[in-house]
Amino acid sequence: MTELYGEFVAICGKLTEKFNITPLLFGSLGLQRRLNLDLHPDDIDVLLPEKIMTERWQELLELAEQSGWALIDLREHCFEKNGARIAFAANDLKEYAGINTSETDTISDSGAEYQLLTLPQYLSVYEKSLTDDYRQGKKQGKDREKISLIRKALSKLPLAKIYNLLYSRYGELNWWPAKTPYEVMVGAVLTQNTAWSNVERAIANFDGDVTPERVQNADITELADLIRPSGFFNQKAAYLKAVTEWYGRYSFSVPTIQREPLEKLRKELLVVKGIGQETADSILLYAFGFPTFVVDAYTKRLCSRLPFDAGNSYSELKAYFETKLPRDSEFYNNYHALIVINAKEHCRKVPKCGGCPLNEICERYGI
Ligand code: SF4
Repeated sequence: MTELYGEFVAICGKLTEKFNITPLLFGSLGLQRRLNLDLHPDDIDVLLPEKIMTERWQELLELAEQSGWALIDLREHCFEKNGARIAFAANDLKEYAGINTSETDTISDSGAEYQLLTLPQYLSVYEKSLTDDYRQGKKQGKDREKISLIRKALSKLPLAKIYNLLYSRYGELNWWPAKTPYEVMVGAVLTQNTAWSNVERAIANFDGDVTPERVQNADITELADLIRPSGFFNQKAAYLKAVTEWYGRYSFSVPTIQREPLEKLRKELLVVKGIGQETADSILLYAFGFPTFVVDAYTKRLCSRLPFDAGNSYSELKAYFETKLPRDSEFYNNYHALIVINAKEHCRKVPKCGGCPLNEICERYGI
């Protein structure tokens, strides 16, 4: 294995120097590099831009021969040296399995640079090969084994790894963007069904006086007018009145609330007008520091794209995170904030996977 890899690295540097390209290490040798397992590859598969394979094949042939490789199969562009084999092919992964290799990782090793498919991309290739006439009966048994290995590796990805990848990109985000716990409550209600920029405009209308007293003392029409930029303002004015009334039961005191059991508060909030699970958990986590995981549309989207089976409903997803992560409000706080920022930067409705910190572990990457 090491010898084959060493041979690849040696010729990879020469290919880059001659053609000014970044070769893609494909096949079992690439997969074992990704999985960090010995898969006993019997050759080196290298993918190159199509132009090299067609217009500059003669130069490639010379380069391989100068490096001690002898051509043994012209159709397969396969060479041999001391019992080892290397095969070159045009990179057609886009057409073959819908993989955009321009967004694939670039690995630097011993002075050589090469591209390596991510595990989800490998999975797509091997799954495609199962329906491929060319591979029919040839290596499909091995492909199935590889699919199973990849799936196993993907299923082991811990939530902590996702957190670490996001954290190393975005760091500590210190959410929620509000000056006081009460402003968090107001923001959590106003952000329902609208963009955060509209919430900011609504909050700005309070002229810095986002207080329970202000909301209590305003009549409902005045309050609706203040929060008009957040949309659904008549409903939301009623919701704000209701949640403020709930807060009043605890004398608008954060320490008093924090002395109560989380489950009791959550149950109470869920019967307050306009407060669903996401709003309740946002208030409990971000305003009062309770360890309750917030599941929003961004969390659901991420869970549907990453390789784990976290369920679909709010309670399934919440339980998934809470049973697998330490019960720590600061951790939950930043984890959710990281999911949100990455959803805005990369994991949008139409994902922008290039540069996404999760692309090495995401099933949807490049698909
Ligand atoms: S942006 Fe792409 S790679 Fe990143 S998490 Fe979303 S689907 Fe996966």
